[in-house]
Amino acid sequence: MSDFQLFIDGRFRDAESGETFQSINPATGEAIGTVAKAGAEDAARAIDAARAAFDDHRWSGRRGSDRGRVLAAIAKGIKERAPELTELESRDSGATLAKAKADVGGAGFWFRVMGEYAARLDDPEPLPQTIAPGPSYNYVKRDPVGVCTAIIPWNFPLQMASWKLSMALAAGNSVVLKPAEETPCSATVLAEIIRDAGVPQGVCNVIQGPGPVTGEELITNPSVDKVAFTGSTEVGKHIMKLAANTVKKTTLELGGKCPQIVLDDADPELAVDGAIYGAFFHQGQVCTAGSRLLVPDAIHDEFVGRLLERVATMRVGLPTEKGTTTGPVVSQKQLDTVLNYIEIGQKEGATLAAGGQRVTDGELENGFFVAPTVFTDVTADMTIAQEEIFGPVVTVLRYSDDEDAVRIANGTVYGLAAGVWGSPARAMKLADRLQAGTVWINEYHLLNPHYPFGGYKQSGIGREHGYLGLLEYTEAKHVHLGVDNRRSTKRWFDGTIPQPR
Ligand code: NAP
Ligand code: MG
Repeated sequence: MSDFQLFIDGRFRDAESGETFQSINPATGEAIGTVAKAGAEDAARAIDAARAAFDDHRWSGRRGSDRGRVLAAIAKGIKERAPELTELESRDSGATLAKAKADVGGAGFWFRVMGEYAARLDDPEPLPQTIAPGPSYNYVKRDPVGVCTAIIPWNFPLQMASWKLSMALAAGNSVVLKPAEETPCSATVLAEIIRDAGVPQGVCNVIQGPGPVTGEELITNPSVDKVAFTGSTEVGKHIMKLAANTVKKTTLELGGKCPQIVLDDADPELAVDGAIYGAFFHQGQVCTAGSRLLVPDAIHDEFVGRLLERVATMRVGLPTEKGTTTGPVVSQKQLDTVLNYIEIGQKEGATLAAGGQRVTDGELENGFFVAPTVFTDVTADMTIAQEEIFGPVVTVLRYSDDEDAVRIANGTVYGLAAGVWGSPARAMKLADRLQAGTVWINEYHLLNPHYPFGGYKQSGIGREHGYLGLLEYTEAKHVHLGVDNRRSTKRWFDGTIPQPR
């Protein structure tokens, strides 16, 4: 029996094939446990279970307020098991304990708030009334979409699982979740919590397995109605093509190369600390990482001086150690990717002003640690200013005036988020012109279950979170109720078709 099993149709089980894989602690390179490795047949079985559960209305037929109570119990279950989840998440993903703790708190917060929103779905939304050709009452009712599948990455494993599951379940769908293979563990614990909170058998399924096999079944199986994906833009494009064959509803949360614009009237202390948090939080492995720091000519040298002073105080260390600011990146593969980008940056002529190397001191010997890295003299066309690195690397770009800042900020294929550090009135003017799903002014990385989140351009399709995000897990059904039912009031009376007014 594997340490972390699949959860299909209300039961924990190993893969049909009996195959397993190991999950690695990126801080030490050691295995933390065996995980059942789902194949396409396990994915199909989970989808069948979700389909049956949806079609007999055991969850989809309940009132939103009732589902909301179950989601609140999930939030409570997460809170009760928070210490265990925090420790597991940190070991599996390399998150510092502080980050893992915040993630676990966030997971519960999402279930609680989505549970509250669920009740809102019970009330039909009235539409403006028309009286021609006869009086009627019109409203929109929100139905669940059906069987949803969710595929998530490794940077926020428990949070991401909780985002997707809380929205899908709140709206009354059945769901099959596939975590990333690098971070498969916490989802198994979450499945237990969801079962214990009273979500009926088959409604929620969790299967760990490889994207190209298990993941593709979740996208191509005709019994699936909606795919919700978070991951790279490259895989997102592939998923969109696969989903097209059966016209599945698809929401995509993809990559980013987010700008942080520092205005010359910014509070320097706030902007430096904020920019560091924006760029280096979780080793820069965040889709909203503010990896392009746009600094005006007028304050460039002074700002960069302060930035480098602060970066020099950052502590690379074991995620479990107090005071660690920079833990490992998630895998050997990610380590290689990040180091390769650092090499490209140097070859392209950017100045390596801090970091740039793997760290292997003492206990860090077998982990995947990279020193916080700053490139200056970066131009907007360089690879390191265009491509998502997903590591602790920030590129500093100069700009002349606000116009120039907007042009550089919008000058990538991405449009996920942006930050502006400076006086509110000026920053809000800039915000109007930024192509980004979220603009933080004098703040960064602030996500909340009430705030919609998603990407412009190639950063994705659709929104998650907030009531807007929840609606992505529903179908809108317009109902027209004729009130005056004399034949003469109908638009088709006498064979004439009056134009609607
Ligand atoms: P990824 O390679 O795109 O993988 C994401 C997920 O997709 C994993 O579960 C992966 O499974 C699965 N997958 C891979 N190939 C697949 C296929 N052919 N069919 C179906 N599923 C497939 O991304 P990642 O490297 O894990 O994560 C980093 C990326 O995610 C970055 O680009 C980042 O910006 C993006 N991201 C975006 C957001 C957002 O909200 N916009 C949030 C976080 C991360 P396996 O890995 O298990 O094979
Ligand atoms: Mg792991």
